[in-house]
Amino acid sequence: MFVDIAKIHLKAGNGGNGAVSFHREKYVAAGGPDGGDGGRGGDIIFKVDDNLSTLADFRYKRKYCAENGQNGGASRCTGKSAPDLVISVPRGTVVKDAETGRIIADVSDDEKYVIAKGGNGGWGNIHFATSTRQVPRFAKNGNPGEELDITLELKLLADVGLIGFPNVGKSTLVSVVSEAKPKIANYHFTTLTPVLGVVRMGEGSSFVMADIPGLIEGAGEGVGLGLEFLRHVERCRLLLHIIDASGSEGRDPVEDFNTINRELAVFSDQLKTRPQIVVANKCDLCEEKDIERLREYFESKGYKFFPVMAAIAEGTQELINYVAAELQKLPPIVKYEAEPKPRVDYTVKKSRTFNIRKCDGVFFIEDAPWLLDVMNTVNPDDYESLQYFERILRSTGIIDALRKAGISEGDTVSVYDVEFDFVD
Ligand code: GDP
Ligand code: MG
Repeated sequence: MFVDIAKIHLKAGNGGNGAVSFHREKYVAAGGPDGGDGGRGGDIIFKVDDNLSTLADFRYKRKYCAENGQNGGASRCTGKSAPDLVISVPRGTVVKDAETGRIIADVSDDEKYVIAKGGNGGWGNIHFATSTRQVPRFAKNGNPGEELDITLELKLLADVGLIGFPNVGKSTLVSVVSEAKPKIANYHFTTLTPVLGVVRMGEGSSFVMADIPGLIEGAGEGVGLGLEFLRHVERCRLLLHIIDASGSEGRDPVEDFNTINRELAVFSDQLKTRPQIVVANKCDLCEEKDIERLREYFESKGYKFFPVMAAIAEGTQELINYVAAELQKLPPIVKYEAEPKPRVDYTVKKSRTFNIRKCDGVFFIEDAPWLLDVMNTVNPDDYESLQYFERILRSTGIIDALRKAGISEGDTVSVYDVEFDFVD
């Protein structure tokens, strides 16, 4: 089966914890703090691998975790950062947040996309010595790595997409105009994974043609057309609509053409208006007058019409020349923009858990990964933004909990990467 959609779980690596340690040396009475920082947790990164054409790998393995950073050690030893986990996907894979549907990335070019960020390592106690706090007996824990469910959706990228009922000769056409060798057979559904063929026009110019898995068996009997494949033509700039001019399987080429276009229109407004060229194949099995009848019909509807015999490459060069010229006039392939992360709405009461730990007069707010998300949206230089942060600390009960833990004005509060003085 052709897999073009998958849902997986990602967990980036946690940062390693900072160390609490003190310098020890013979004859040196009280050495200073020398606990090192934790290492960074690994990111989860997506990148294109052009050897892949489906998302099948993600059907069997659904959970991906990057390693955690190592903890810091004594003698200012920094923990080792974890390597990034790199996941290869076929070109044109759109990554979305499974919960919200937000587009995180369109992995279509050769960039590396960080989809889940590893946590920073925590600081060792070496950072926490101040004139009034010379013996810090605490260090920071590493930040948790991002964790999320994502959906992957393959939306192929090609200049030209082939559409048409099974067995009309789509794969044959790709095989004669490009170096791609898709399976060709006189039975339905031979094309199980999309095949991309590069059509070379000489002088270094070329375009990409996609032979896409077609309609499902029984389409004609009203089982449904299995139009999932339309997802793949969404990003083709031009469509070649192949019909079997001979009606060799007892079908009516005009009816087939209209059926597919009706479905196309239902699928999306954009697809409805995508330029189409009609390619009438298997003309060797037709009478000249039948071809002319079809030509008249399609030309009267404003379509460019090319009769071909794909099997012997008759008429295909004219078709390709025309396609190449049309492509020059058409806009480039659509790339989806990443959508910004929405601000979390804290009026929606979810479980906002946290812990407060007191150590050496500092109040640590811990075990609250959700608060990290909030902090990423807060700009400490902006008054409004800080007020927003404060409101969240109040509404989630953190301020009350701090009071209960005995905090007073001017004490230090430490939340992940941030420290601030408590003001009542
Ligand atoms: P697809 O399902 O649309 O990809 O169709 P295929 O390319 O697999 O072709 C289906 C059948 O039609 C195969 O048996 C081909 O050999 C045959 N075919 C393709 N082109 C022609 C042609 O120009 N004339 C004839 N008579 N048969 C053809
Ligand atoms: Mg085929």
